[in-house]
Amino acid sequence: MPNPPHEPYELTVLNPATEEVIATVPGATADDVDRAVRRAAAAQRTWAALAPGDRARTLRRFAAVVDAHVPELAALEVREAGHTLGNARWEAGNVRDLLDYAAGGVERLMGRQIPVPGGLDVTLLEPLGVVGVIAPWNFPLPIAAWGTAPALAAGNAVLLKPAETTPLTALRLAELGLEAGLPEYLFQVLPGAGSVAGDALVTHPGVAKIVFTGSTAVGKSIMAKCADRLKRVTLELGGKSPNIVFADADLEAAAASAPMSFLDNSGQDCCARTRILVQESVHDRFLDLLAPAVHAVRVGDPADEDTQMGPLISRAQRDRVRGYVPADHPGIRGRCPDGPGFWFPPTVLTDLAPDAPVAVEEVFGPVAVVLPFRDEEDAVRLANATEYGLSGSVWTRDVGRALRVCGAVAAGNLSVNSHSSVRYWTPFGGFKQSGLGRELGPDALAAFTETKNVFLSTEV
Ligand code: NAP
Ligand code: MG
Repeated sequence: MPNPPHEPYELTVLNPATEEVIATVPGATADDVDRAVRRAAAAQRTWAALAPGDRARTLRRFAAVVDAHVPELAALEVREAGHTLGNARWEAGNVRDLLDYAAGGVERLMGRQIPVPGGLDVTLLEPLGVVGVIAPWNFPLPIAAWGTAPALAAGNAVLLKPAETTPLTALRLAELGLEAGLPEYLFQVLPGAGSVAGDALVTHPGVAKIVFTGSTAVGKSIMAKCADRLKRVTLELGGKSPNIVFADADLEAAAASAPMSFLDNSGQDCCARTRILVQESVHDRFLDLLAPAVHAVRVGDPADEDTQMGPLISRAQRDRVRGYVPADHPGIRGRCPDGPGFWFPPTVLTDLAPDAPVAVEEVFGPVAVVLPFRDEEDAVRLANATEYGLSGSVWTRDVGRALRVCGAVAAGNLSVNSHSSVRYWTPFGGFKQSGLGRELGPDALAAFTETKNVFLSTEV
């Protein structure tokens, strides 16, 4: 039952590795969102009026304060999201880097001068106003910052709604922003339910743009609601990304890297390479190499330095993942702790029909499938046989083939002989039902501006 939009309510935050309650947080109501939008609008006007250098300096200070709190933010991420300590440190550092990178864009956010007769034509890149960022629980810190940092840098105010399960790092980030000297109310966090706080942001006339990361179903419903006011929208949605292994690849390297390409963050990663497509002639040999690599992944206490994979975020997510994995199906299964915590073992399923639900739908857990293919054409056909198009990897020693396959796979982020997808300075986003628009990279700030064309006559 969704909470009524105007009634007070609370969020209960669990440690997913122990199931212990670690905090309760008041949830934002529709009235809280309305108040926040009004305050943000006033703060935005002050912020946008500052000299670019002053905005940039404030964001650099924000980055420095985040840097000084990386251990604290990482510890919080381990506790509320079950991320491994190594990942959590990287994630907190990523927020710092995003703020630094965005700060470098403030003085470089330039319009154009276009030749016209009878005057001067220039384009101005104006901030949108108040931007709503709706973040998921799988990478609470980085994804919050993907939207927030460039939006602030481009002169906007930001209202961030974190996922219900992971509000704590976002709340701390807003405190650090104030400590760094951001104007009050410029960056506010509204912890709350998607159906209440999220929906209030999406439908509020004072919010100019929504940046959403999460499920394709919710993303579509948000886009439909934004259409009502032509509200700007960026969507980063699901994925079911292929890892295409050709017979001429370095098979040892491909097999050694395959496990963490879908087990990192317990598979709760929109870029997870969960469809391992292997050329028929090396299929069995690849599985022989893959099995020990899967068994070697260390699953356990996320706060332990050596752990590679922690628990899933919640009981609901574990039930969802379990529902995709038929008992006793052939494949490779790793081990995980039993007892409290939302654990699920590393799992690779073989001998599946290519259109089985687990082979085409986003599972968002530590589960991959291995499907054989005949030749290059068959590999591309299989790689494109999902509604998603976010990421993918191609393993081959043939440069021409690597380029042909990257050209033919309909996805926004591809890597050859590696599984890298996300760098804050390169663009990221999906084809097909994986999303709309791009985040990160050199154009990140422009996505938070409106272009205004101004013509000045020289004839009067
Ligand atoms: P979700 O519902 O799409 O959640 C993402 C964010 O949207 C959360 O902050 C959520 O708030 C909010 N939200 C939910 N309904 C909303 C609405 N009607 N209006 C505005 N905001 C709303 O995702 P989920 O239910 O947590 O996860 C389900 C599946 O989505 C996963 O199994 C996975 O397949 C996919 N997913 C993908 C990504 C990704 O990175 N692409 C991230 C997360 C999930 P609440 O916390 O209150 O729900
Ligand atoms: Mg949901």
